Order: sequence, then structure tokens, then C-alpha cells
Amino acid sequence: MTITETGTALDTVVEPGDGALLTVPAGGRLQIVDLQGNQAVDTLLYDAHDIDNRYSAFDTIREQRAVFLTAGSRLLSTRLDELAVISDDTCGRHDTVGGACSQESNVIRYGEHTRHQHACRQTFLWYGAQAGIGQRQLTHNINFFMNVPVTSGGDLRFDDGLSAPGRYVELTASRDILVLISNCPQVNNPCNGWNPTPIQLVGWW
Ligand SMILES: [Zn+2]
Repeated sequence: MTITETGTALDTVVEPGDGALLTVPAGGRLQIVDLQGNQAVDTLLYDAHDIDNRYSAFDTIREQRAVFLTAGSRLLSTRLDELAVISDDTCGRHDTVGGACSQESNVIRYGEHTRHQHACRQTFLWYGAQAGIGQRQLTHNINFFMNVPVTSGGDLRFDDGLSAPGRYVELTASRDILVLISNCPQVNNPCNGWNPTPIQLVGWW
């Protein structure tokens, strides 16, 4: 799915394994709805006018002094510009340290037999190409609705999700941004409840 026109309200469903590249103008609102629950939505943000000015998990975590994302989180860029704010959130917690799945990481984690399985990195490259986003522009991402608890010992786990059918997160763009989405097809860990499902994207601008 590809929508890049501005001035157009958006309401579409994205199947697991598919993605989207959206241009959201400053002040525009984008809701991502977890239609059936426990579905990870891997997301990258870019300054629409300079794709080298892109979402930075490190800067976002440091400046908000918290590891998880939720309502009020300011999503910062590598140049410390505010790309968007999470303006509403009925899930309550989102990950930005777990990264996106790739065929290579699947092989290392889950075995050679998973090499053929479609992964988020491929979706990012497929849709990103339309805006000149290549491998060099793919870095740490946001995983909306994904549950990656950090233990008191500092360990990460990929756990069963906290989300539920119909829960949503809403971004309000602080400047003109590109939103690159992969609706995660991962079936080898519980990030999608072992069963990837569709999401809905609703936009107002
Ligand atoms: Zn994935």
C-alpha cells in the first residue's frame, strides 16, 4: 500500500507482511489500530524534506529518560528535531529497543529453515525505495504494540503482547514526516501472538 499525497484523509487496512509509506504533514494525525491484538507494527520516521534526519531511538530514550514509548513521548531525530509526538495511546506501552526482523536475524535466532520467510527489513526496503530510503537509512525503529520488557538485570525479552483488539496509538506530526511501516510477519516468537494479523491506518490532515 502506498499513499504519498497530502491533503487526503486515510483509512486503509494493511495485511501482515505488507507495509506502507505515508507522507504526514505537520499537524497531521495518524492512528495505527491493532485490529485483532498483539500485532507488532515496525515503524520508521523521517523528516520528509531530508531523509538523513531520521528517528533516533537513542536520543528519544535519553531525552525522555524512559525506555518505553507511550502518550506524550516525543519522537526525536538524529538531529534532536521533534518528528512527532504520541498524542494518544490505548495500549500503554511500545518498544523501541527490540529492532526489526530480517531474514538474517531469523536464521541466527531460529535456524536455517526460516531463511525464506518474509521479514520487516524487506518490507522497509520495498516501500522505502519510493522515497530514496535504502539500507543506509534503515536504523533502530519503533515497534508499536510490541512487548519487550527490560528486566531489573538489564536483560531484554520478547514477550507476549500487552495489546488487545481495537487498541490504537496516535501520532501527531511535528513537521512534515515520512512514516515507513512494516506490519510484522514474524511467526517465530510471540511478538505477534504467533499469528500475524492486519492493522488499520487512519489519518487526518
Ligand atoms: Zn518483523
